[in-house]
Amino acid sequence: MGGDSILTIGRLCVASLLVMVVAVGGVHSSSAGQPVAAVAVEAEPFTTPAIDAHQPSASAETPTLPEKRKTKVPILVYHHIRLTADGSRGLRRMTVTAEVFDQQMKFLQDSGYHVITFSDLADYFEQGRELPTLPVILTFDDGWVTQYENALPFLSKYHFPATFFVVTDYIGHRGFFSWPQLQTLITDGMKIGSHSRSHPRLAKIADPAQLWDQIYNSKVTLESQLEVPVAEFAYPYGSYNTAAVEMVKAAGYRVGRGCCTGVAHTSTDVLALRAIMAPNDLTKFQKYLEAH
Ligand SMILES: [Zn+2]
Repeated sequence: MGGDSILTIGRLCVASLLVMVVAVGGVHSSSAGQPVAAVAVEAEPFTTPAIDAHQPSASAETPTLPEKRKTKVPILVYHHIRLTADGSRGLRRMTVTAEVFDQQMKFLQDSGYHVITFSDLADYFEQGRELPTLPVILTFDDGWVTQYENALPFLSKYHFPATFFVVTDYIGHRGFFSWPQLQTLITDGMKIGSHSRSHPRLAKIADPAQLWDQIYNSKVTLESQLEVPVAEFAYPYGSYNTAAVEMVKAAGYRVGRGCCTGVAHTSTDVLALRAIMAPNDLTKFQKYLEAH
């Protein structure tokens, strides 16, 4: 598609009732110094991706695992962490306020949850290394600078590691992480994963070369700029198919994360893990975790 890709992405977003206003200038700052307008807003789908129809038995190419392991680990997905939950409906839906985020992290700490990393989960699947009780994984999508400004201080406060899935074409643009900020995240113990080059729906890409560009070249960019291995990939919109999953594997990722379909995982899901959206409400957050 080449130069048509941006238009195509736009059409896809509109067609799926997603709001995606990529900030190309026009980002204004509130009195709190927070971008509030013209920020990109996305909504991850709540539908089950097509790949979910493929049961683990279909993955004959999975390396020999000692056994098929199962576990329930809530993988929480955050987008914007802002001081207030104002703005458009789409933006509000993608926002957890800093105050609520602090409450949620405190709840995890006070309730005996253990924040683990994707490496811990992969070690459990691949090597049988035991997980702690009440494991949970924290993730942040798209590379919004609000995460750096308003989530990182609390992650540091509670000593919780998180994985930030960034879109490499967005890095350095207004409203998004800069490369130095990504370096700071790493220094502070955070993990950086790829969320593709330009945030398309991978299941809609038929051209293997384009798919490879999104999946592999984003990894190369991150690894060359940050000088750390990048082993995690999050599918934009939770959209993937067999070809995308196989390419994530071929590109050298250890873990792939979908979105919004639950907390149960098996060792054959490691390249398409389920996740849940974090609500902007402590009580809902508690009930959601305790339900699992
Ligand atoms: Zn995204």
